[in-house]
Amino acid sequence: MDKFPIQLISWFEKFGRHDLPWQKNRTPYSVWVSEVMLQQTQVATVIPFFKRFMRELPTVKSLAAAELDEVLALWAGLGYYARARNLHKAANLLVKDNNGHFPQTVKELMELPGIGRSTAGAIVAIAYNQQASILDGNVKRVLSRYHAVEGWPDKTDVKKKLWGLSEKHTPTDRVAEFTQALMDLGATVCLRTNPRCIECPVNSHCVARQKNLQNTIPGKKPKKKRLSRKICMLLIEDVHKRILLEKRSTNGIWGGLYSLPELSVGQDPVEWCKKTLGLKITSQKVMQKMNHSFTHFDLNIHPLLVRLDDVSCQMVDHDDRLWYNPAEDIQVGVASPVATLLKSLQSTGE
Ligand code: SF4
Repeated sequence: MDKFPIQLISWFEKFGRHDLPWQKNRTPYSVWVSEVMLQQTQVATVIPFFKRFMRELPTVKSLAAAELDEVLALWAGLGYYARARNLHKAANLLVKDNNGHFPQTVKELMELPGIGRSTAGAIVAIAYNQQASILDGNVKRVLSRYHAVEGWPDKTDVKKKLWGLSEKHTPTDRVAEFTQALMDLGATVCLRTNPRCIECPVNSHCVARQKNLQNTIPGKKPKKKRLSRKICMLLIEDVHKRILLEKRSTNGIWGGLYSLPELSVGQDPVEWCKKTLGLKITSQKVMQKMNHSFTHFDLNIHPLLVRLDDVSCQMVDHDDRLWYNPAEDIQVGVASPVATLLKSLQSTGE
């Protein structure tokens, strides 16, 4: 008999996390939202976002009925916005094709946008307590170490092996608890650096521990040269001190969020504003540069504050543009470096 799930579940009863907000009043919908939020984000960061999201959009139907702008505003600050767009798209598909009912199998769930095999497994296991396996980042680390599987866990052959091991250990009973336990072990004991092996419930059979390989397993991702891009962001200020924001296309970075107009570094802002927006700039001031890191590249932002003459303020009329007063709370989703720039205007009294 496989001791792994038994040891893990009895450890979870005593030491696991039982008071996370998504563990209360659990529904397939709340499990789905929490799992998607947790995909690339730490538990402590997710908690306030999850509470606010569930308060505003408590059901699949309410999510489907919301405007994408509202969903993105609730997500603003959590990053990886494709997750929010996919949640919204999936909720609309469920309402349209399934009367708002939630699928109950891994296969059906994986047909929805933004739900991969591990997220689908977590939903089936946690929401329905049905046998299904998971393999998120924490679980990859635990299983790689427990079985001393060498190599980068996202390499195709290594990942395939880890999926096999995850399936082998998944019990038929108490699947929800087992799944939570496995996630908790990775998050609180089998840590990336300095795992707390003494406290670990499965330490007696952990091969990495026996061979003292905890710090070399899992293997690291092969390094690629990091790319970087430079852009100039314009903070266009009208005579009422409002800043022009424009909505980005739904594709690409910060898709669907509001942001600042962008031009190439070195391009003449006076010419650009006149040609693109029909606006006349009366003064310009260089602001402090900032960097923003994405998974695959760094964005070097060169912000420029430009002021308009009185007449120009009337001239921006477009569905996807709005004038925003930085002294007021923002009602639309904005990219986080843009929020930082808007705040800096306030604090410097520009
Ligand atoms: S014994 Fe250590 S390395 Fe092995 S699973 Fe437990 S915490 Fe991780």
